[in-house]
Amino acid sequence: MNDSTNTHPHHEGAEGGSQGGRPERKPSRGFFRRRPRHDDARPHESEKPHAGPHPSIESVDIIAADTGLEPAKAMTEAETTAAAHPSWDEMNERKIPYDPNKRTAGRPVDTLKTYLESKDQRGRRNYAEQAAPRRTNSWVDFWEGTGKKPTRIMPIGGLEEVGGNSMIIEYDQDIFVVDCGVLFGGDDLPGVDFILPDLSYVQENRDRFRGFVITHGHLDHIGALPHLLPAFDFPPIYAPKLAIGLMKKHLEEAGLLKFAEKNIIEYDEFTPIKMGSFRIEGFRVDHSLPDCFGLYIQTPTAKVIHTGDFRIDKKCMDEKKADLDKIAAIGDRGVDLLMADSTNALLPGWTPNEKDVVDNLEAAIAEAEGRIIITTFSTLVTRLQKIINIAEKHGRKVYVNGRSMINNITLARDLGFIKFEPGTVKRVTKHMLGVPDNKVVVVTTGSQGETLAGLTRIANGSHPVLALKETDLVIHSASMIPSNGMKFLSVVNMIARKGATVRFKLNNPTRYHTSGHAQAEDLKLMMELTKPKHVMPLHGEYFMRQANAQLAVSMGVPKENAHMVDNGDALEILDGKVRKIANPLKLVDSVVEKGTVGQVNDPVFQERLTMHENGVLVVLMKVDRRSRRLVSQPKIISRGFLFKTVAQQRSKDLSDVVRTRYDRLLEKFSGQKKQKDMVYALRADLTRWITDKYEKTPIVMPIFIEQ
Ligand SMILES: [Zn+2]
Ligand SMILES: [Zn+2]
Repeated sequence: MNDSTNTHPHHEGAEGGSQGGRPERKPSRGFFRRRPRHDDARPHESEKPHAGPHPSIESVDIIAADTGLEPAKAMTEAETTAAAHPSWDEMNERKIPYDPNKRTAGRPVDTLKTYLESKDQRGRRNYAEQAAPRRTNSWVDFWEGTGKKPTRIMPIGGLEEVGGNSMIIEYDQDIFVVDCGVLFGGDDLPGVDFILPDLSYVQENRDRFRGFVITHGHLDHIGALPHLLPAFDFPPIYAPKLAIGLMKKHLEEAGLLKFAEKNIIEYDEFTPIKMGSFRIEGFRVDHSLPDCFGLYIQTPTAKVIHTGDFRIDKKCMDEKKADLDKIAAIGDRGVDLLMADSTNALLPGWTPNEKDVVDNLEAAIAEAEGRIIITTFSTLVTRLQKIINIAEKHGRKVYVNGRSMINNITLARDLGFIKFEPGTVKRVTKHMLGVPDNKVVVVTTGSQGETLAGLTRIANGSHPVLALKETDLVIHSASMIPSNGMKFLSVVNMIARKGATVRFKLNNPTRYHTSGHAQAEDLKLMMELTKPKHVMPLHGEYFMRQANAQLAVSMGVPKENAHMVDNGDALEILDGKVRKIANPLKLVDSVVEKGTVGQVNDPVFQERLTMHENGVLVVLMKVDRRSRRLVSQPKIISRGFLFKTVAQQRSKDLSDVVRTRYDRLLEKFSGQKKQKDMVYALRADLTRWITDKYEKTPIVMPIFIEQ
């Protein structure tokens, strides 16, 4: 069962139209997905420039030696050596076991396979090799008169969609990357599990790469790491405690934890990170899971805030709340640029409090007589903790259903983010069937109606233990992500057919969910505290970021200082001055499908979409080896193209058409050797004829059998 999407409440509250974008410059990549513009495509194989030499092992070691924490956790020399990357020889000596048939938790271990197979290339992935070298030196000319170097901010994901967040920050000889998340594939990339940000620029400048800094543990911020780390020889990753726990789980499933582990370093509000010329201080923010940080990034020429995903919860129930005092103190020290979460910038007012949601859940649990089944996101750690507390208070036990829910509750308890009395929380097993209904709360995955997730299986009767009863109350304590909305409604249908009661947004005014993303007032407070000279909205479609920029202008930021930047653009900052460079990175994202990595611009996606809409038509032609003439009537095989009612007649018509068209082309191409050209011509001719006649354009595949 793969219900991992439950761990991804990143689009909460993002409602409304599905198109953002700025048509005059870039077509919208649409909601939750993106594809490169045609001119974004990398050079064709034949035009591919020669890829530069790989950095030596020495230069990789320098990265580790140059990286450390100050002052509380400065690494000793011995620790620094231990943290250095394992060399390829060392890895071979360790004889890493690899079994290509072994699968862990539903995910193939191809990431490890790719890693081991790519060792000749020192971890470079093929897609990275296709990248054109970028001459960044010319960018510096603009600032030449100043005698200083600018700090460069280059978002590579998360600014034209909600998801896939990642940003490159560069100053002189140093580069680091904030977050490295996945984006889930949309309708235009059928079959794809994840989309990964394009880190080719970092790959090409690997000798200057100092590591990753992670703001928090949601998949749209950490999910791409297992797929990309091998290509970078497992560089340092700085992350908060809970994010480290979640990251390690993903790395373990990919079989990569033992390589990555040594270079994962915890930071918190007391341990600034020093990497090369960067000094980075974390400050706590509220979000939909605990232990989330914003970053205050200082270089010799810029002071920049990256808020991460945030909101401000006045009744925050996390042990450690948003540190408004520290944010204000940072504001006093000076902020050249504020980059803030835009997901809910369109919504007026404050983001509703988590406590109100929990109070409503308590009221429902207190008055219910039967079982309560709550479906929510498995990373909503604080809400899960409160549900457990409420259940304890009302004499109920909590039964946990769904892989990611079980994993995350276990992990959060191990790390001290969830606490409960022994025996209060159990897995759903047949032993629970003897427990009276009024002593049961079930928490389950499946809040988005995913086909194989917990709630769907309970609702459609395929769950091995739980069958719905008329006395059951199901509460949807999550957002309905627009692209998943209809799926959840079909689950509501199933629940209704079983006679159970379901409460969700459309049939109940009571608030059972709130978002982890800042609404207008939260954002305005952040701006008031940080007093930025410039802003660059983050995390969202164009229209969401535009709303964020408008808020900044309403707070007194000059309009020309509110910068709308897309993925692949760069913003340079030098002593409070900012300039934007449009699209220097020419990004091509990678896609992951059952462990195999490809690119978003692969023609396979157009083929899949065509097959989906129009089907496939195979034309089998037996021809004489010498004369190339047909020796029998062409045979038509179609899949997904013709209804049964017309298949026989139309196949016959098509066969006749193929025969006459083929004979005509044979005349035209007689004496020419280029058999391939004739196949292309035949395919084009038949496609045109079929489109005119039937108003459908299937994939036409002529196949010749020589006799
Ligand atoms: Zn996010
Ligand atoms: Zn998040």
